[in-house]
Amino acid sequence: MKELAGISASPGIAIGKVFVHVDEAPVIPRYPIDTRRLPDEMSRFRAAVEKATAEIHRLKEHATDIDGAEQAAFLESHVLMLNDPEFALTIETKLHEQRTNVEWVLINARQEMVEKMNALDDEYLRERIADIQDVSRRILNHLLYREKTSLADLTEEIVLVAHDLLPSDAIVMNKRMVKGIAMDAGGRTSHTAILARAFEIPAVLGLSEVTRLARVGDTIIVDGNRGHVIHEPDAAATKRYVRVQREWRKHEVQLMGLNDLPAETRDGKLITLNANIEIPDEVESIATHGADGIGLYRSEFLFLRPGNLPTEEEQYRAYSYVLENIGDKPVTIRTLDIGGDKVSPDLEALGEKNPILGWRAIRYCLSHVDIFKTQLRALLRASVHGALRIMFPMISGVEELERAYEVLEQVRSQLSAEGVPYARDIPVGIMIEVPSAAMTSDILAKRADFFSIGTNDLIQYTIAVDRGNENIAYLYEPCHPAVLRLIQLVIRNAHDVGIPVGMCGEMAGDPNVTMILLGLGLDEFSMSAASIPEVKRIIRSVSLSEGEDVVGIAMEMKSYTEIDAYIREYMQRRFGTEVFAS
Ligand code: PEP
Ligand code: MG
Repeated sequence: MKELAGISASPGIAIGKVFVHVDEAPVIPRYPIDTRRLPDEMSRFRAAVEKATAEIHRLKEHATDIDGAEQAAFLESHVLMLNDPEFALTIETKLHEQRTNVEWVLINARQEMVEKMNALDDEYLRERIADIQDVSRRILNHLLYREKTSLADLTEEIVLVAHDLLPSDAIVMNKRMVKGIAMDAGGRTSHTAILARAFEIPAVLGLSEVTRLARVGDTIIVDGNRGHVIHEPDAAATKRYVRVQREWRKHEVQLMGLNDLPAETRDGKLITLNANIEIPDEVESIATHGADGIGLYRSEFLFLRPGNLPTEEEQYRAYSYVLENIGDKPVTIRTLDIGGDKVSPDLEALGEKNPILGWRAIRYCLSHVDIFKTQLRALLRASVHGALRIMFPMISGVEELERAYEVLEQVRSQLSAEGVPYARDIPVGIMIEVPSAAMTSDILAKRADFFSIGTNDLIQYTIAVDRGNENIAYLYEPCHPAVLRLIQLVIRNAHDVGIPVGMCGEMAGDPNVTMILLGLGLDEFSMSAASIPEVKRIIRSVSLSEGEDVVGIAMEMKSYTEIDAYIREYMQRRFGTEVFAS
């Protein structure tokens, strides 16, 4: 038995068997094939195609999301490509020409096809390149006996162990089968952590060496509450954790009892508690956790699935689905925030030296106006189905905001000219997540209908600490006086001109800082749906003036160590040793 300490990324307890996810590119062997053995080599190819086809059919059965129909159509197109007789003929001809093993023939054929398609001035064909890569990767994996490559293919309950997991891997994994996540890399606000919380999968990240220890089939316990992982637990540890798991579930059920009650302080201040979602299916969690609406829908996850970029129609359907399934509650959809750790093979933003400071979010959209306009058209069209709010990410100054408005205006005029209906009164807000935006929030407040503070990035950029880097995670401190001062400034500037301020960074869902945010005057808290009941419990047990007193004391302190110690001790005294969801 070995216990490792990491970063608590998603609460809950998981006990299960290890599945190690390794996604390095396979090394392709190359060896000559005797002419007499060429038919056998071709049979190997056909057998691999058959297995790949069966694998895709299995995947189709799992395509249950809202975009299940599109996913099924997309997978069907891969079945057609796999079984295209011309494709088999190309491989057979090349096999006879090159007389090397079929894996080598396949990657050469793929390379040739990709180069040809790249050279053509045909957008549609260029978009098919990703499909060719995907299909040939599948065949290759079967030829090389690497069957389970995609996390979408999991069919047994497992605890996922990985060195690192890209958000684009996490978004496609078969969520019903992943009971826990343990990773060497990652921080609490990395997007993989955010997805784990969204899917309510207990997760511990930043473990440094879990992949060196854990092997497929080992038993492992993920304690997402304490940020610990126990590898090959002994009988006593297993017994203890089975009990903790039961208590944790009971605690969650008790909190659900607050679902229909408002988040109102004892002295009558009503707070809005919203949920953050990443995929349309999560809309169900709004009712099950008593959210008032959606404070952040991270639309970029639609763009992170393998395959082509979502079309206007696909986006329209996803946005409409969310709006229609939430009644008249407000839904804040953030425009594409691609880049940083959210990279997609289908978008041209790879290979930057410093992606976190690079071509992200609104910067990317303003230099890819076609992609931006397609999304805005889909959003405006969907606006007739509910209470939509549009939000621009990573605004760093007023110029960027004005340019975003210009594009929005062009899209509005286009739709009006086409006679396409859309809501005329959509509130448009911005995320405050870059220090320059926080410092100029008095100027920005006059041009936005609302603010939402993105603390995940605001902390990252203010303290200059990469939010996904486990080595410096100790510096990533929400209670740093610089962060608290910026939040205070933003709220004051917004309130001066009468616009509401929300927070959709992970800090909003941390019950340890609820009193501080309340005291600073935050109007809306938006978080992973599962965190709502605990935050609501705290809001309902305190008064606004108590929060203001806490802020008064904290803001006088000189360091985050001091503030953190004060607030933890205060919460402990005030709420006892009950479990917190952070
Ligand atoms: C944030 O930065 O706080 C935020 C909510 O956006 P994201 O986590 O998607 O960068
Ligand atoms: Mg952000």
